Amino acid sequence: MTSTPAPVRRVTVLSGGMGGARFLQGLRHALRTGLVPACDDVEITVVANTADDIWMHGLKICPDLDTVMYTLGDGIDLERGWGRRDETWSVKEELATYGVEPTWFGLGDRDVATHLVRTQLVEAGYPLSQVTAALCRRWLPDSEPVPVRLLPMTDDRVETHVAIADPEAASGRRVVHFQEYWVRLRAEVAAETLVFVGLDESTPAPGVLEAIGDTDLVVLPPSNPVVSVGTILGVPGVRDALRTTSAPVVGLSPIVGGAPVRGMARQMLEAVGVEVSAAAVGLHYGARSAGGLLDGWLVDERDADQLPALEAGGLAASAVPLMMTDHDATAAMVVAALALVRP
Ligand code: GDP
Ligand code: CA
Repeated sequence: MTSTPAPVRRVTVLSGGMGGARFLQGLRHALRTGLVPACDDVEITVVANTADDIWMHGLKICPDLDTVMYTLGDGIDLERGWGRRDETWSVKEELATYGVEPTWFGLGDRDVATHLVRTQLVEAGYPLSQVTAALCRRWLPDSEPVPVRLLPMTDDRVETHVAIADPEAASGRRVVHFQEYWVRLRAEVAAETLVFVGLDESTPAPGVLEAIGDTDLVVLPPSNPVVSVGTILGVPGVRDALRTTSAPVVGLSPIVGGAPVRGMARQMLEAVGVEVSAAAVGLHYGARSAGGLLDGWLVDERDADQLPALEAGGLAASAVPLMMTDHDATAAMVVAALALVRP
């Protein structure tokens, strides 16, 4: 006999930028349409990675927070997947004409307004979590039927840096900010080592541990396991909160058919010595029953042959289509994820 699953009130998602944001659109769609039964006061809390953040031209830029905010607030450029729709680039062009470096970062005029508001508030002394809440009053109003609360993983400064080979440097290597590795160098050189500056000394932003401890479901979306989810997990206290929460924790593989769907997950996994496969990423997070973080792990249909290895590692696992082609396809993944951990 199958019983109707209890309606969901709280869902917490640990998100990076594009992969996380797309997943969140599908999750919100599933809750809005009743595909996943929800309480009247349902709410999604997003804990977003801030280790991609960078100061540039005097502005504090938070790429993953902005991608989530613009995507869920319907302000994202759909083709690029980042930045504002109907963007113009006058500020960037003028800066380049002055010869001011760096010139490789995509700083659009509309986007600059967000960075100006954020920077002013940060410099006035407000913590990033409060600044983010202020920006979200425009993009993610509480009056939505399925409201979304966006929290930075920490209010502290944390930055991912990447060591790469550089024959011209005396040491033979050079360390660049993650944004320089990804945007300027297009991740075309191997990442030798990753350094998460400030991560060990950071503390979770207000509300982060509570959002993991007091919820109906925690989801690790198909975000980058190293530089998106991995950094969130590295904030002291977050792993313990996941291990001890009474809510089920379920994840979706960003690796499909042995390769990332997009982005630099391959280079990042290689840098930390994890095989680029759906099973290896699931086992890297590990089963809660074996001291890890997950109860369940969804892989793509193409990776169904990896289910036995995951089950042997203590994870509930199943194989379903994992390409987030539209909101319905992604919502179906949410249903499958719930079925795995809340049967
Ligand atoms: P970023 O911060 O913009 O790099 O975004 P995230 O870290 O949130 O997500 C990046 C990851 O999303 C990459 O590793 C991709 O493989 C994964 N990804 C993107 N689109 C899809 C999709 O349609 N399905 C799955 N399973 N993964 C995806
Ligand atoms: Ca990112």
